[in-house]
Amino acid sequence: MLRVGFIGLGIMGKPMAKNIKREGYKLIVYNRSKSVLEEMEELGIIIAANGKEVAEKSDVIITMLPNSPDVSAALFDENGIIDGISAGKAVIDMSSISPVASKEFYSKLNEMDVSFLDAPVSGGETGAIEGTIAVMVGGEKPVFDKYYDLLMTMASSVTYVGEAGSGNIAKLANQMIVASNITAISEAYVFAKKAGADPKVVFEAIRGGLAGSKVMEHKSPKIFDDNYDPGFRIELHIKDMQNVMDTARSVNVSIPIAASIMEILQSCKIDGLEKKDHSAIAKYFEKINNTKLDD
Ligand code: NAD
Repeated sequence: MLRVGFIGLGIMGKPMAKNIKREGYKLIVYNRSKSVLEEMEELGIIIAANGKEVAEKSDVIITMLPNSPDVSAALFDENGIIDGISAGKAVIDMSSISPVASKEFYSKLNEMDVSFLDAPVSGGETGAIEGTIAVMVGGEKPVFDKYYDLLMTMASSVTYVGEAGSGNIAKLANQMIVASNITAISEAYVFAKKAGADPKVVFEAIRGGLAGSKVMEHKSPKIFDDNYDPGFRIELHIKDMQNVMDTARSVNVSIPIAASIMEILQSCKIDGLEKKDHSAIAKYFEKINNTKLDD
């Protein structure tokens, strides 16, 4: 049985690690903040002192961290993964980061005969808990094939997208679409309210039609209840949209909708909403229209 290392036990990483353990893999974990580790230990999961120890004691190391600099730190800082890894092992980065950074990590690890996959996920905390996330993977196909079963312990779908960086390209496209959806829903509900229709009834009326979506189903109740506990934090969506903007510039693509949404997210951050769920985009539309959707 593969020995699996896992670094980054936050909202997503903790339930994902638990799902791997449930399938019988030997698991060794490390997290920067320590509060989560006791719960892991009670499940028989081995706790490491740092990334180096994780890499020494496992065959494949999964990372689930906020952004590119965090993955870089986990890999290359003192007592990081690189200090403990050896040829023939693999790193699977499941964080949502810049595809440019993913390609860099792939090249650097390849020089050490270490495989690298970028394998970001969609599906949120609920999907991570239920083991139903969608995983989108970039890297070498034989490496993907080797770790497919491991990835499926956390997921309902695991898709090979293409060469290194492609997983994160797919993820950024996903984030553009999700943000656009939340923005459109929020604007439309405020429009409906001010025009004289109850937004909750509008939701009931349209959810089964063409405008209906998973985003609408998951986020409308939060918006109507004014309950913006995360979920997926505004600050993480800003991080993703910044990666979208940077990638778009590097490949000479114009993305006017994403650019507008980035400004809305930034305004939410200025209003102190960065730790709230990204459905709090609705509060931007409430504010500029001087209305409340939960009245
Ligand atoms: P999080 O902030 O809840 O968790 C990150 C964890 O990593 C924290 O526990 C932190 O202590 C730890 N950490 C940070 N740097 C570290 C380091 N150098 N070494 C060891 N541990 C370190 O974030 P999250 O919500 O779990 O998101 C993780 C990634 O998954 C992000 O890239 C995010 O965009 C993506 N994602 C999140 C969701 C969601 O709904 N939350 C959904 C899909 C994808």
